[in-house]
Amino acid sequence: MPKYKLEYIWLDGYEPIANIRGKTLVKEFENFPTLEEVPNWGFDGSSTRQAEGHSSDCVLKPVAIFPDKTKTNAAIVMNEVLHPDGTPHSTNARATILDDPDTWFGFEQEYFLWKDGLPLGFPKAGFPDPQGEYYTGVGYKNVGNIAREIVDKHLDLCLAAGINHEGINAEVAKGQWEYQIFGKGSKTAADQVWVARYLLARLCETYEVEVQLHCKPVLGDWNGSGFHCNFSTKYMREVGGKGYFEALMTAFDKYKNEHIAVYGPDNHLRLTGLHETQSIDKFNYGVANRGASIRVPHSFINNGYRGYLEDRRPNSAGDPYKIASRILQTVATVPTNGA
Ligand code: ADP
Ligand code: MN
Ligand code: MN
Ligand code: MN
Repeated sequence: MPKYKLEYIWLDGYEPIANIRGKTLVKEFENFPTLEEVPNWGFDGSSTRQAEGHSSDCVLKPVAIFPDKTKTNAAIVMNEVLHPDGTPHSTNARATILDDPDTWFGFEQEYFLWKDGLPLGFPKAGFPDPQGEYYTGVGYKNVGNIAREIVDKHLDLCLAAGINHEGINAEVAKGQWEYQIFGKGSKTAADQVWVARYLLARLCETYEVEVQLHCKPVLGDWNGSGFHCNFSTKYMREVGGKGYFEALMTAFDKYKNEHIAVYGPDNHLRLTGLHETQSIDKFNYGVANRGASIRVPHSFINNGYRGYLEDRRPNSAGDPYKIASRILQTVATVPTNGA
């Protein structure tokens, strides 16, 4: 039987942003293993801020498996962290997401490629040309000489792993990029975003490049990085209606601080009311309004207030598990007609 290399990855206990950790399990399987076939595993939580030294075992419970086409007979296994008694660890935000196959999320991950303390392509002193031509830009002046190779390779790696990328683009600031991942099921896209982040960080090692997920790494007239969260429940897509939408927005307004608390650190530096954002302390929504907290797509109104909504407040360093969990918690407070 062939030996498979299973890279078990999980989120550690660092605050405010968890790091991805990973270690390799070698195990024989007849064929590429299914999720049911890969075993629980463990790690030393005292080295990841997830346990005290005297009782440091944490359990890794596989929740999704992806082929790793960079190696022969290899997979990436995404895990939840559990206590030895099987209960979810406090750092396990995934376990707090309501399970629902009919809830869909689409995340837009913006980020900077980063080298020697600067966005990739910034001169060592001073600044490059101001923003304008970088967004969806082409040519050495706009994207440099290795960024495109990295983002294209990342896309191929993700597609080979079965991650549902919907697209990529160069963003407004120099060195800034975006990819979008969509998934049906309340945890699917969030799992895939974490694996995509893992694959990008690992790919960039070879280039001596970092992935900068801070939401405002260059102060001044340079765009910050968002992590727009597009979401829809079955009820929003199939029943919806103006009354339900307005009740939903009232709930989002009521819980705006609870949302901001899990939408990524340092968001006050990004949500300023400038650069296509709403201020951090305000909540509003608007049709096709990119300066709103929640953007309502034209299609939503045209379909009788049915479809998906875009929460534009989450930032690039946000944890998709915490974001999805909070959104569904707020949605759950709004009564549906006969449901
Ligand atoms: P923009 O940059 O204009 O905000 P993008 O095309 O980058 O738009 O992102 C739109 C996102 O909306 C995609 O991630 C897509 O998967 C997501 N989306 C589309 N339809 C739905 C839906 N019904 N439910 C949840 N997300 C959706
Ligand atoms: Mn986008
Ligand atoms: Mn964008
Ligand atoms: Mn968007």
